[in-house]
Amino acid sequence: MEDRRQWPLVVLTASPFHGHMSPTLQLATILHSKGFSIAIAHSKLNAPDPSNHPSDFTFLPLSDNLSTIDNSNSFTDFINALNTNCKPSFQEHLIRLITEGNKSIVVIYDNIMHFAGGVAVDLNLVPIVFRSCSAVYFPAFIVRQQLRQQGRYLEEDFVMQEMVPNHHPLRYKDLPFSSSSIEDFKKLGSNFSRQARPSVVIWNTIQSLEHEALTQINEHFQVPVFTLGPLHKMAPSPPTNFLEEDTSCINWLDKQAPKSVIYISFGSLVTLDAKVLAEMAWGLANSEQRFLWAVRPGSVCDSEWIEFLPKGFIEETRDQGLIVKWAPQREVLGHFAVGGFWSHCGWNSILECISEGVPMMCQPFTADQGVNARYVSYVWKIGLELECFERREIASMIRRVMVDEEGEEIRDRVHNMKGLVRQALDNGGTSHESLEDLVGFILSC
Ligand code: UDP
Repeated sequence: MEDRRQWPLVVLTASPFHGHMSPTLQLATILHSKGFSIAIAHSKLNAPDPSNHPSDFTFLPLSDNLSTIDNSNSFTDFINALNTNCKPSFQEHLIRLITEGNKSIVVIYDNIMHFAGGVAVDLNLVPIVFRSCSAVYFPAFIVRQQLRQQGRYLEEDFVMQEMVPNHHPLRYKDLPFSSSSIEDFKKLGSNFSRQARPSVVIWNTIQSLEHEALTQINEHFQVPVFTLGPLHKMAPSPPTNFLEEDTSCINWLDKQAPKSVIYISFGSLVTLDAKVLAEMAWGLANSEQRFLWAVRPGSVCDSEWIEFLPKGFIEETRDQGLIVKWAPQREVLGHFAVGGFWSHCGWNSILECISEGVPMMCQPFTADQGVNARYVSYVWKIGLELECFERREIASMIRRVMVDEEGEEIRDRVHNMKGLVRQALDNGGTSHESLEDLVGFILSC
């Protein structure tokens, strides 16, 4: 009989971003189900609730000294502060775990918390980096870095429709936009490039979907890259304490016709101004399609929730749609009544959408969203990208996705892609095999 007490302890870092923390906790749950002891080192900001997890999970709070996520002016400063502030307490936790007799410890760290890789290497522990963004983002990020170092990629480039030379299918406008100064950008870049070399890379994706980018990633890292995804399909998702899900929308969906509702959500970070919200609102109303709209409190500038919706909209759409603060998104996307997803193209949202075979309407804002939207609309052809935020354009695109023949073709393609997800997860599939390889690797440590 194997003695699991001899198995390595797996320490995972959870960052304060909902879109990063969810897949990290899913990965922790999967490794726990494989028999590993789990410790979660987490920022105090947006900390996970231990009561939502198995009682033998250990939680290690990190002193982050941060009170709120600043995704406006100085995201670079926020990331730098997160890494600088969390490092000492992470080191202390690991030293204590070692002195308590944990013979072997493997550290799986979110790449945004790269300090953890350095600490692991200093203590002779095995560092594994976990990436919760798309693989196609990685080459695009490198291109952006090269352009930025040449002093390019100023704001006017942001609207450029031209293709980036030698980087098909990307246009300049698809590259991750950065408002940071060149100095800030260089600082962030050099912090990332000084990262410890990981022993292994884990990517929340499906091999067949992002094959080309993964080949480039393999060449870049020169260590095994395990494609393990979609993680939310491999483990139940524990709640993250972010916002309470409003499950009443499921009862509302139950009463709608099959594939008649467009679901709208822009994730956990995007903020909108009231003008944009007004165009969205009238676009939805004019499309004459049923809608379920998740509007996160505080996501509209200077507004608690939906006070800034245009006058008359609520009354006019009373029988057409429903607005909630936070939806049970995975359940919503899997509901028979949902026929389309208008999304900001965060990677979790795309994986969740593909897993349920729902056509998309893309409205990217920042980070990897532009690249993701480009792949969804131009390469995988499972959605349409909204290029102009104007009510008539919005109404017309909603109808193209929901009722036109074009939408039917998109639906067929995304349905086929859902099949690829199933294949990857099945016995012998790439994600299934990657998990076995990862378990084998950790056991060999
Ligand atoms: N989400 C949710 N309810 C909502 C809106 C979003 O549960 O009303 C979840 C969604 O299922 C996804 C995550 O929030 O898992 C958003 O992650 P994503 O990577 O798409 O975007 P981010 O929030 O990181 O920008």
